[in-house]
Amino acid sequence: MAKGKRTCIICGTTYTYCPTCGNGNKDESWRYLYDTKQCNQIFDILSAYAHKHIKKTEARDQLKSLDIPKGMKFNSEIKKQIDEIMVVEPKIKDEDKKQIVKED
Ligand SMILES: [Zn+2]
Repeated sequence: MAKGKRTCIICGTTYTYCPTCGNGNKDESWRYLYDTKQCNQIFDILSAYAHKHIKKTEARDQLKSLDIPKGMKFNSEIKKQIDEIMVVEPKIKDEDKKQIVKED
């Protein structure tokens, strides 16, 4: 196995990063686990949701704000979690109904 060769735990992309030889910026310590900052952010959202720090709607909004490219590949476990978050329940909350009616 080549030195510094890593696999992103989110999308499975292989990339090279060596935390000790100064290959890369020190601010990019996230490269230890992820090939891109976006993968790091996806993981942060998924783990915050998994630990119930944020609600599903918040997780969904945050994932949407990342502008994840269509067709981006994920590890099957990650994909499952993202799909679960992105599913929108058809139920409309009472608050939302009022907002729709209150159009003047
Ligand atoms: Zn990745």
